[in-house]
Amino acid sequence: MAGFNSVADLKPFKTMWRVKVSIVRLWKQYSAAGGLTIEMVIIDSNGDKIHATVKKELVNQFDHQLEQGKTLTLTNFSLNHSVGSYRTTNHLYKISLLATTRVRSCEALPVGLNGFTPVNFQEVLDGSLNPDFLIDVIGHVVEVSHVEMIHVNGKETQKISLELRDLADVRLPMVLWGNFADQVTNAIQLRGEGRLILVLRFGKIKVWKEDRSVSNAYNVSDVQLNPNMAEVEAFRAMLPADELQLAIVEPKPLTLASGVSVKDDFFIHTPRKTIAEMIECRQVEKCIVMCTISAIETDMGWYYLSCKPCDKKVMYMPPLVAGDHEDDDLQKFKLYCPKCKSYEPKLLPRYKLHLVVLDHTGNSKFLLFDHLALQLVNQPCIELTGPITDEVQDPDVLPLALQNLIGKTYLFKVEIMRENFVYKHDTFKVNKIITNLAIINEFDTPKAPKEPSTQISRGHEYSIVSDAPEGSLMLLEEGSSQEGFPSELTPAKRRGGPAVNLEEEFDQNSVTKTGISTRVKKEKVDKSG
Ligand SMILES: [Zn+2]
Repeated sequence: MAGFNSVADLKPFKTMWRVKVSIVRLWKQYSAAGGLTIEMVIIDSNGDKIHATVKKELVNQFDHQLEQGKTLTLTNFSLNHSVGSYRTTNHLYKISLLATTRVRSCEALPVGLNGFTPVNFQEVLDGSLNPDFLIDVIGHVVEVSHVEMIHVNGKETQKISLELRDLADVRLPMVLWGNFADQVTNAIQLRGEGRLILVLRFGKIKVWKEDRSVSNAYNVSDVQLNPNMAEVEAFRAMLPADELQLAIVEPKPLTLASGVSVKDDFFIHTPRKTIAEMIECRQVEKCIVMCTISAIETDMGWYYLSCKPCDKKVMYMPPLVAGDHEDDDLQKFKLYCPKCKSYEPKLLPRYKLHLVVLDHTGNSKFLLFDHLALQLVNQPCIELTGPITDEVQDPDVLPLALQNLIGKTYLFKVEIMRENFVYKHDTFKVNKIITNLAIINEFDTPKAPKEPSTQISRGHEYSIVSDAPEGSLMLLEEGSSQEGFPSELTPAKRRGGPAVNLEEEFDQNSVTKTGISTRVKKEKVDKSG
């Protein structure tokens, strides 16, 4: 259309440009230097993209006019060099809106202009793509680890490792942090028969020594599974017609996060205790216990019904009968999600295992929630229960996959809580497990002087790409997803409160935390400048 400049022509020498663009991606970001800004990637009808920023002083002025997916005309704006290690487009410049910029809504651009430009995996792996530029990825998920909880900057955040293949059957390692890790796990649990196609937009190429992988970056990235996009249909149609099954694997055990590996956490930073020492302990602390699972306490059940979207435990509500409470017909009780306030919650069973454990000094009980149980069973709960709509009916019937845990020895990182030593609650909460046999054996071997050279080279072999700056930031902005449990069980949050046991607390969380949201403010230090 006449009167519009093309994005490709934009240069800093003047401000009186006019473009007609769609907002492909929009997010708000906080940096120490810039405060809260609006960041966008916009595209014109030629398919050319450019980054645009609204500075903090102008956020209020433009916030209501800008929305992902909208088509706008922008008139009169400045251009600066596009720099840094998180560049969203390959345009040399980026737009900065001015107080005098004019923004107008207009009719949409031709459909299909979503700016999605997936890369060839080989070009990520062989280093031909510059890691300063964020990339789009489409791939068939062929391998996935269970979710790990990783300690990053004083917070626990979820991490999941995946392997994707492209049409050339090149395999790309991917690590997702924060909510995306949970979303992917949930999608996998409910995947059914079809193949999982993952679309990552604005992902970050991670380089660690010679190895390259892709991760989500800040709140720039977007991850979707089987999204409704023409590109996904085309990709799916061109995949080889093999029967490649999705493999659920153990994550690499020694992940570096905040400079502390899980192994160091278990071997150096957390004191080791026997079961007897753990039980005798009189202070809140964490410890590592090496012990063997001797039984699963079936009276406690082994799963609970959660509301799929919000993770909360659902509850049975009695039928509503006005003025008369005599209708106790069990059939009329309905499942209810107290958080979503929904009487027809989508159900997903999740593990809640009560393990009886022992070592040479005694025995105790450990409580494991879904993420950790998944690490032991390597099979999502729903695969053991099948599609269900009810509580555990016959607790003594344990699926074989759970029976098989009996007799296994692992390293458990256990939280000793006030209730355990003040009120003698005999169940301890586990917050990390190492299942890797080599590491367990090493832990079990009395420390003997070793040749230093061997030690060092081993350490290197174990390191994997996982420095996780994005992970920590993802957590801060998306911390609300983790409300409820198990993080609600931390002693700090219950200071001074009445003592309850874990089980009761878990049930109460489902009820009393209704509607309470602990949204954590976004914080991000923009190191790209
Ligand atoms: Zn819910």
